[in-house]
Amino acid sequence: MRGRDPVTDATPGPADSELQEILTQVHAQCAADRRGEVASYIPELASADPDHFGLALATVSGQLFTAGHAETPFTIQSVSKAFTYCLVNELLGPDELMRHVGVEPSGDAFNSIEFDPTTARPFNPMVNAGAITVVGLVYRELGDGAFEFILDRFSRAAGRRLDLDDAVYRSESETGHRNRAIAHLLKGIGVLGGPVDEVLDLYFRQCSIRVTATDLAWMSATLANLGMQPLKDDPVFDLMAVRDTQSVMYSCGMYNYSGNWGFRVGIPAKSGVGGGLVGVVNRQLGMAAYSPLLHATGNPVRGVAAFELLAEELGLHAFCCTKLGSSIFERFLR
Ligand code: GLN
Repeated sequence: MRGRDPVTDATPGPADSELQEILTQVHAQCAADRRGEVASYIPELASADPDHFGLALATVSGQLFTAGHAETPFTIQSVSKAFTYCLVNELLGPDELMRHVGVEPSGDAFNSIEFDPTTARPFNPMVNAGAITVVGLVYRELGDGAFEFILDRFSRAAGRRLDLDDAVYRSESETGHRNRAIAHLLKGIGVLGGPVDEVLDLYFRQCSIRVTATDLAWMSATLANLGMQPLKDDPVFDLMAVRDTQSVMYSCGMYNYSGNWGFRVGIPAKSGVGGGLVGVVNRQLGMAAYSPLLHATGNPVRGVAAFELLAEELGLHAFCCTKLGSSIFERFLR
């Protein structure tokens, strides 16, 4: 368990061990699920081990619980979109941001080449068209310093210095023709904040930041903790931007599974084709999973199944109405 302060924290009490037990059980229940495929459209991602499966929960009070491959590195991919949206919201403010990208679920695949017919803008920042637009705005504001800005804030949220997976970055850079097409269309409609090549380079770099499930749990716990990194008391994200980010994660974070996700799991979330998945339980905890076997929607199969079980077991659904459900998690909070 990382993150416990040996001086101020008491020995784990029964609630801690109970939460750890639930996580271990959920991990065991989902580990045998072999459904799905490892992403291969970015060639370097195809080498991921399909047996890898990790879970991590980080509370806003600084506790960490893990199961399985929680320390195995992988690339953040589209999980990054939620965090960069939060950053650009802070840089530009929500009104200016809304002029470039909307907050409407598209009901389409993450890489679909289409815009909202009423606004002629990308539907939302969680699909590629919206995320490339968001990255373009960071580039417009910060130019060559944009990647370091993103990496620094992601690192502060994770509580440790993150780095770039150079092989995945080069692999996507060489093969990302569909994203190039999207970026040219965005340039054509006037929402791309910089030259196509520079903006795409920044997007591919952002997607290739290397993380573990534990890092993602701390990053989402920072959102859950209203922008403050729980272990470091570091104000990483802007408060109002955190609210907007969680809202759009709730409605759009799981692509064309978002409606089902909101219904069944009820937690703001974001997935990535590297196998990462985060969930934010506002003011309570950050959740993360790593499993590279993906459903056709691009969401990690075991991660989705595990979050569903955890939401049920711990009463985490935003609209949970059983007294039992909501009180279960309260027992784990201090
Ligand atoms: N870098 C990937 C892409 O743009 C991210 C997609 C994803 O994780 N869904 O295709």
